[in-house]
Amino acid sequence: MEIEIKELSPKKAQIRFSDTTATAVNAIRRSLIADIPKMAIEDVEFHLGTVHDDATSTDYDLSTSLFDEAIALRLGLLPIPTGSKNFRFKDKCTCKGEGCAHCQIVYTMDKKGPGIVYARDLIPLGDPELAIAEPDVPIVTLGAKQAILAYATAVMGTGRQHAKWQVAHSVGYTAQPTVKVSKGEGCTEACLKKVVNVCPTHVFQYKDGALDATNPDACILCKECEHACTHGSVKVDTDPTAYIFRFETDGSMTAREALRLALENIVTQIDDLRDSVVSLG
Ligand SMILES: [Zn+2]
Repeated sequence: MEIEIKELSPKKAQIRFSDTTATAVNAIRRSLIADIPKMAIEDVEFHLGTVHDDATSTDYDLSTSLFDEAIALRLGLLPIPTGSKNFRFKDKCTCKGEGCAHCQIVYTMDKKGPGIVYARDLIPLGDPELAIAEPDVPIVTLGAKQAILAYATAVMGTGRQHAKWQVAHSVGYTAQPTVKVSKGEGCTEACLKKVVNVCPTHVFQYKDGALDATNPDACILCKECEHACTHGSVKVDTDPTAYIFRFETDGSMTAREALRLALENIVTQIDDLRDSVVSLG
């Protein structure tokens, strides 16, 4: 398998895998979606009752317009910058599941209305670098004399357990398009220009009397070009040994790191399978 990085930004990647099969590329897709561990908020402790603000001599009611469950769900979906921090799964930690700095992150949320509570209002206890990666996500709107006081605990998990632990999103691939251009018999300038114009992804260019497929990777295999020229000047097909792979991350880690962990996970799973087969004798 050969890997060519076509586009790589912190949260997005486009990669060409060639000399491979759809099965191998799909294994990477499944690993990216389900098997990369990351931190996400699992427990939220809401404080109830009233809270008094001495500065303004005002009593605030610790309730909001949303059910606590809805707020907890929103908090669970916030991306926590797990990156290369090497957290452990709680049940495999040296603290034996009690919870420590290696297996959990505790956040506090203390805000008084009126106003909107944002993801940035979750303050990590300890390392400030563990602040939520997307600080502008709104959580809930507080009315006058409303307040929220809560503690949220994040732990490690994978997308296999719940979507809130899913690092990669919009993961998909298409077979590498092959676009062959040859001037057919009876082809006119008009029909070649029509090919250029009907293509929704601007694959073609018409220059100096010739049609060229200048951007074949952008082809979405709609075959509008084949229908536009009835003289057979364009032939669109796919290469079954090459795939263009795209995915994004939620911001909890970079696309590069997510891909590295997904590939590592496939190797681990294959090693485990081999060990199991060997142990059968
Ligand atoms: Zn621990």
